[in-house]
Amino acid sequence: MRLSALFWRTLREKPSELVGISDQLLLRAGFITAAFDQVGFLPLGMALHKNLLEIVRQSMNKFGAQEVQLPINLGSDKLAWDLDQSQDRKTNTSHEISDDEYLREMLQQVIQSYRQLPVVIYQFQQSLNTEQEAHQGLSNSDLSVVLSSYSISQDINAQQEAYSKHQNAFKGIFQKCDLPFNLIRSNYLLPGCSDLEEMIYLTDSGNQTYCACEKCGSLANNALAKFKKLPSADQQLESLEKVYTPAASSIEALANYLKLPQTKTAKAMFFSAVLQGQRQPQTVFALLRGDMDVSEPKLIHVIETQTRKKLISLYLASEAEIRKVGAVPGFASPISIERSETILIVDELIPQSTNLVCGANEVDYHYLNSNYGRDYCADVVADIAQAKEGPACPACGSPLAFKKGLQIGYLSQNNPNLLDTNICSFLDENGKRKDALIGQYQINLANLLKSMIDLHHDDAGLILPAALAPFLIHLIVLPSKDSQVQITAENLYTRLIEEGYTVLFDDRDERAGVKFNDADLIGLPMRITVSERSLAQEAVEVKRRDQSIKTLVKNEDVKSFIQTEFQLLLSTLN
Ligand SMILES: [Zn+2]
Repeated sequence: MRLSALFWRTLREKPSELVGISDQLLLRAGFITAAFDQVGFLPLGMALHKNLLEIVRQSMNKFGAQEVQLPINLGSDKLAWDLDQSQDRKTNTSHEISDDEYLREMLQQVIQSYRQLPVVIYQFQQSLNTEQEAHQGLSNSDLSVVLSSYSISQDINAQQEAYSKHQNAFKGIFQKCDLPFNLIRSNYLLPGCSDLEEMIYLTDSGNQTYCACEKCGSLANNALAKFKKLPSADQQLESLEKVYTPAASSIEALANYLKLPQTKTAKAMFFSAVLQGQRQPQTVFALLRGDMDVSEPKLIHVIETQTRKKLISLYLASEAEIRKVGAVPGFASPISIERSETILIVDELIPQSTNLVCGANEVDYHYLNSNYGRDYCADVVADIAQAKEGPACPACGSPLAFKKGLQIGYLSQNNPNLLDTNICSFLDENGKRKDALIGQYQINLANLLKSMIDLHHDDAGLILPAALAPFLIHLIVLPSKDSQVQITAENLYTRLIEEGYTVLFDDRDERAGVKFNDADLIGLPMRITVSERSLAQEAVEVKRRDQSIKTLVKNEDVKSFIQTEFQLLLSTLN
């Protein structure tokens, strides 16, 4: 490709439209455009994206996975994690056809017998944005593509085999993109899931928070991170006493009024859980120590395990819903509540803390000295608290810190013990109908690209891995009065293409400085320069983008020299 003919432009200035370093670099180097808070791909960006798709496609096909395409513009019945989105929950339960429903149909139409299993199908789909933040760049554009793969297995052995095949394929893909990643086990990030490994890349421009221990290196998704909780237990259990606490309907107001630390209070929270196959939402009463906040994913896991049903959505219960189960909003109590309508889930720290203040289920009244076990019992005691910065790492006791990161992929297996998760059945050897086991695997290509660029760039521009670069060679001809310089460059361009290299040829009438700057900005793996100076020595200058050394290579040695260099560069491909 001749640069003079390329649909392309560069930006000298740092653009203000996009926030992330990867988006800014892609914009400056002429890979993308940004307008109306949306990203568009220019030809260089298209080529980069295509290469990435191809790496993924080949890695999937290599182990026998087969590509399918579900109709686009289907809805999603994925869970909305954000409590504030409770207003939008109608969209989750409304009856537009979802991806999952279509997939279920597709599987049911094709799969009849055990002879067809195991099978792996995958598709590239538009990722559905849950964040409505503007200026999100690549990962918030319509071009944000996700690889979604599903394994359908007849038994647990086949499922585990499919899981490890995906694990290997994904590792290979990240390796080709020259992207080291952190693998973390998040056993219940997805509803109905028993085993989940999250592949993440830690970067300040990430949109997820992870809980990290500097000392032992333990890393966990913030919402799911375990942490050492400090009990607040007194020597003696005091007797229960009802006290007047006017208008103290929040933990802060209550602690201030009674002049007690929040660690001596118990916090009541009510949720409505929409469960699969159940018409009415299930009311959930979560009780935590006053200084703790609830972790929704942890809570969801407990609800699913307890009800043995997949959760469709979870939202904060309205005052009317709280009253309906006989509780007084702001003063709800685990002691005197009617329990037939609610599930009481108590954080594990509550039984380890004594003489806590809790609601009396009466407006403006609380109980002093409530004690778990003596005054009330829960349906479940579990870890449902959200980790905080500072408290100790569960593994080594050092303080935990929050770090930003991007989720680039995950591997998951459905929990066969959860009911209602089945999406496909088949006839086994004995003609009996059985449920297939489903594994679900994903790579977020926009986040993968973002992470890769975050890692592979310098002040001058991109440094693209050979497997992803739109072209392997950036050929430059420097301005000269000697027509032989141009002729040599043209010949080399033809020769390199004949030898099978993809070449971007900067044949523009520009100064050397401009050409070198643009080459650094675009970041192709190898730069070859033809100039008067090199011509005088019957040579060309070769420089790898990831190294600073420039080598003068004799014309007759060019072929073998670049061959060796590319063998080194592409060695990560296999
Ligand atoms: Zn640690």
